[in-house]
This record gives sequence, C-alpha cells and structure tokens, in this order.
Amino acid sequence: MPLTPDDYRKPLAHATAHAADWLDSLPSRPIGPRENIEQLEAAFAMELPEGPTDATDVVDELARLAQPGLMAIGSGRFFGWVMGGTLPAALASDWMVSAWDQNNGLRYATPAAAAIEERAGAWILDLLGLPPSSSIGFTTGGTMANFVGLASGRGAVLEAAGWNVNRDGLTGAPKVTVLAGREVHSSVELVLRYLGLGEPTLVASDDQGRIRLDALADALDAVSGPLIVSLQAGNLHSGAFDPLAEAIRMAHAHGAWVHVDGAFGLWAAASPRWNDALDGLHAADSWATDAHKTLNVPYDCGVAIVARAGAATSAFTSHTSYFIRDDAGVADPMDRVPELSRRSRGIPVWAALRSLGRSGAVALVEGLAANARALAEGLASIPGVEVLNDVVFTQITVAFGSDERTRAVTRALIDDGVVWMSGSRWAGREVLRISVSNWSTDAADVARSVDAVARAVAR
Ligand SMILES: *Cc1c(COP(=O)(O)O)cnc(C)c1O
Repeated sequence: MPLTPDDYRKPLAHATAHAADWLDSLPSRPIGPRENIEQLEAAFAMELPEGPTDATDVVDELARLAQPGLMAIGSGRFFGWVMGGTLPAALASDWMVSAWDQNNGLRYATPAAAAIEERAGAWILDLLGLPPSSSIGFTTGGTMANFVGLASGRGAVLEAAGWNVNRDGLTGAPKVTVLAGREVHSSVELVLRYLGLGEPTLVASDDQGRIRLDALADALDAVSGPLIVSLQAGNLHSGAFDPLAEAIRMAHAHGAWVHVDGAFGLWAAASPRWNDALDGLHAADSWATDAHKTLNVPYDCGVAIVARAGAATSAFTSHTSYFIRDDAGVADPMDRVPELSRRSRGIPVWAALRSLGRSGAVALVEGLAANARALAEGLASIPGVEVLNDVVFTQITVAFGSDERTRAVTRALIDDGVVWMSGSRWAGREVLRISVSNWSTDAADVARSVDAVARAVAR
C-alpha cells in the first residue's frame, strides 16, 4: 500500500489532542496515579494481537488505558524526587526529534542534529561558566553523565601512571582510589561498579551533607597512586554544594582527577546568586548534569562535560570501518558518550535555552529556589513541622516529630492528592523530601502545598 499523508497526520493529530488534554488536566487533577500497577497490568493484559490495528486506534487506546496510571509529574505541585517539568519549546521540539528520527551519532550523516547539539553544548558551557573547549555529550541522564566523567578520569589517571586501560584493561592495573563524600549519590557508586573501580572510599560530610575539608585532607594524605575525587554540587536532601574551590585545589595537589556530580545543582552556576557557593567549579576536570531536571526538558537528557576533551574521546571513540568520518580532528557526537545510536536529545536543550535566553535561564533557576524558600517558610510556620536543612537551593527536607509520624503524614499527603512529596531517610531519620524543580510552580501552588501539608499534619 502506498504511503498517504493521512498515515502520519491522523495518528499525530490524535496524539496531539491526547497530549493537550493531559497537559490541560495537570493544574486540576490529583497528582498521584488513580490506579495502581496491578490495575494497569490488568488494563494492558491483552495477548499480542494476531493481526494489525489501525495506528490512530492504537494511539486512542493507549491514551485511554494509560491515563489512570499516569503520575502528574508536570504539575506545579509535584515535588517528588528531583524531576522537573517540561518547557513548552522543549516538549514541542522533542516531538520533532521523534518525527525527524535522526540517528545522532555522526556529524556528516546528521549534520543539522550535530550542529544544534554543538550549539546547545556551547550555550551550556557559557551559561555555567565552564571551560569553552570542554567536550560535551548528551547522555540518557545524570547517571550516564557521571559515567562519562568518571570513565574519562579513570583513563586519564591510569595513563598518568603509565597504564593504558583501553588496551590492557584493569587486570593488573595500578589500583585507582576513588574518594567521595559520605552523601555521594548512589548513581556515582553504581557507575564506579560499571567501571570496575569498586566502592569509593567515603569521606566524612557535615550536617548539610557537604564533604568535610579536614576529612578530605586526611583521606588524601592516606592514599597514593591513581586517584579520582568525586564531589557534589547539589545534595539531594539539602541542596548544599561541596566546598569546591578548596576541595578541588587539595585534590589536584595530590594529582587527582576531580569529577563534580551536579545533576540538578550545576544549573545554579547560571545565576550570580550562587557565585560564592560554586566558587571554583570551573577548575574541576569533569562535570555531570541533567537537563531533564532543573532545565525542564523531557526525559531523557543528561549532559556530560569533560574539560580535557581528549580524555573523553579516548574513552569513547570507536574505530569501525563503516563509521565514515569527514572532518578529521572534530569529535563526532558518538565519540563523547557511551551510545553509538541515539535520538537527538540535545535538540530540546537547544530549544529550552533558545526560548529562555540567558535572562530566562537565570530566572528559571532563581525562581525554583525562591519557591523553595517560600515553601520552606510556609512549612516551618506549621506547628510540628521541622525543616531540617538550610534551604540554599531547590531542596527542602522536613520531619514531623517521630519517624512514625513522618511516615503517617507522608501517606496522608499522598492520599490527599494535592501535592506529591517523597519519603526518604536522612541523618538517621525518616524525612519528607521536597524538590522544587518545575518551571510552572507558582505562588498559588506554593500556598496550596503549604495548606495540604497543614491538613495532613492535622489528620
Ligand atoms: C538525579 C541524580 C543523579 C542521577 O541522574 P539520573 O538522571 O537519574 O540518571 C545523580 N546525582 C544526583 C545528585 C541526582 O540528583
């Protein structure tokens, strides 16, 4: 059957309508899914159909069956984990990414996609004040961005010790020590496992989860040989930033590669407000961040930045006869990240930054933090609520007295449906963790959220 215009137009028109209905419902619908996983599995339990189904019918059925099980992550009152919403320009351009279906590996084959990503990358480096000659690659998320930074570091510190890990692997290699703060994100530990580096040596942190410089100094004195220090810009519970300038200086004095996990917090560098908190950031060797968090592009999009571009390409370049390279010396997108084939996930980043401009990006970051401060103030005024962290960025961690009470209030909040905040453990206590990461959260959302918590506490 020949392709007709309707083959695509009709299902796309239905998809647009379903998507718009969903987005329109976000301000008023309960945040949590209305049906649980068992109900959703039952809804999708049909056997593989024997024959084809019309594409438009498939889209309609998908929307109808999925809706009750969707979490309203795009709502201005969703504060779970660290997720973030989606800017309109980012979402719309993400649809075009799917329609264009470029395999974003090679500059000569998909030049528009490669050029747009290169520009998006340059804008990020500019906005965050990172070295303009850095390698920048777009990964699935923060975990794989950490992977890129730490893989680059592994290769570089072993090379400095006279060992070629690409050729000779890790068996028989000098031991690479990795130091990280006690509140290192689990994704860094996961990545170290992928890299065959085992568990990091944990260094004591302070009451906000920042690595302690005295403990780091002791740890550095106690190790020798190839060394990586993994720091954090943005603690999950407190939002706090490690004392970067001094920690990086000390680590470099010991010959270490310094990686910074800034999955959501790196974006603070866009605003002069955090100049002091992020002092020294630019001096690290690699950085990881997520565009799908603070920048509010759709999943999935991490950003891997490596100051010495050669360290990244050494880890990620592959040589195969069918990869034709046309500009000698310029790294292809696939030379900077683990994937060979991938979607053009940098394009929504370009669109987000193009729509925001510099002032809009600064306002986005500052607005999230201002809403977090307002929310924390509102919560602190409710009797029985303790705000446990200094609210320095987008994260708020609260407790409601005993662990039992905190768990009960968390459950009551989720049942209530007006907000979503996630339970966690921090500093030995059950806590409720709030992340203000959605561009669309406004003062009315903050007020309704404070009311919702007050109601849950009263219950
Ligand atoms: C979210 C997060 C990660 C992991 O990022 P993913 O995009 O989920 O892979 C790593 N570090 C920190 C601090 C995070 O908040």
